[in-house]
Amino acid sequence: MKKVEKFELEFLKKEKMARNTYSFYFDRVHVKRGLGKRGFAGYFNFKPGQYIKIYLPISNPDERGTSRYFTISSSPTDKDFLTITTRIIRSSFKLTLNSLRPGQKISAFGPLGYFDFDPKSKKQKVFLAGGIGITPFHSILRYIDHKKLDLPIVLFVSFPFKEEAIFFDELKKIESEKPNIKTVYTLTKEENYYPEFEKGRMGSNMIKKYVQNYKNSEFFVVGPEAFESSMLGILNKMGILKNQIFNENFPGY
Ligand SMILES: Cc1cc2nc3c(=O)[nH]c(=O)nc-3n(C[C@H](O)[C@H](O)[C@H](O)COP(=O)(O)OP(=O)(O)OC[C@H]3O[C@@H](n4cnc5c(N)ncnc54)[C@H](O)[C@@H]3O)c2cc1C
Repeated sequence: MKKVEKFELEFLKKEKMARNTYSFYFDRVHVKRGLGKRGFAGYFNFKPGQYIKIYLPISNPDERGTSRYFTISSSPTDKDFLTITTRIIRSSFKLTLNSLRPGQKISAFGPLGYFDFDPKSKKQKVFLAGGIGITPFHSILRYIDHKKLDLPIVLFVSFPFKEEAIFFDELKKIESEKPNIKTVYTLTKEENYYPEFEKGRMGSNMIKKYVQNYKNSEFFVVGPEAFESSMLGILNKMGILKNQIFNENFPGY
């Protein structure tokens, strides 16, 4: 498949990941591109952490419109399918996404972005995710696991409540099998105590607690705009230089 272009994706199924949060599966093997008789189906390639733009047929869209960007939350090593993972809240886009039927075809564009993630770099990486901002890191960690790579990574991710925390069991399993990977889930609004979760917002103390050589690490920040700007402020105060930071925000939440 050519690098970046419009294509047609076939919806396969959806899977509930947490309260209000679903992964949507699409066929990756027979991805149609080109129009009419000149159209043909082929394989869709992408790199871990990349995203696509999805267009939905919505007859009466709200003011937010008919397309959205989504990170591909699956790994390129998941050969048969690709997934996007999102919270279903209330826009006409999300309600239409949630009512897709298996076999239905939708339009998409991409793949876009490359998160400066170099699988060959041995430099310590710190991933900071606000909620659903975990999607590119899930793709990357799954890729590292499938490829049996040995990279030093610490993932921090925050959710308001335990019921909303996604990919927990899967990433904890990867962590348990890979000494160089650490995952820290923190809950910001949960009143109950869970020993396997940190409590409260991510801050410099939490980062320093788990990352010894943080001054020499690369930081990747992904989440809603408010999360992104708060984390950039914290990293700045910790003396992390701009060229050590890679960030992407998920607007609209
Ligand atoms: C590079 C990139 C990658 C991204 N990757 C992901 C990803 O992996 N997963 C993901 O979930 N998102 C991702 N996003 C964000 C995504 O594109 C949407 O902007 C986001 O999911 C919000 O969707 P929505 O506008 O449909 O609103 P919703 O999810 O429906 O709602 C979000 C908020 O807006 C409010 N709202 C919704 N509709 C209305 C309305 N009509 N009027 C007033 N308020 C309203 C809701 O109450 C809620 O507070 C990404 C964005 C970018 C740029």
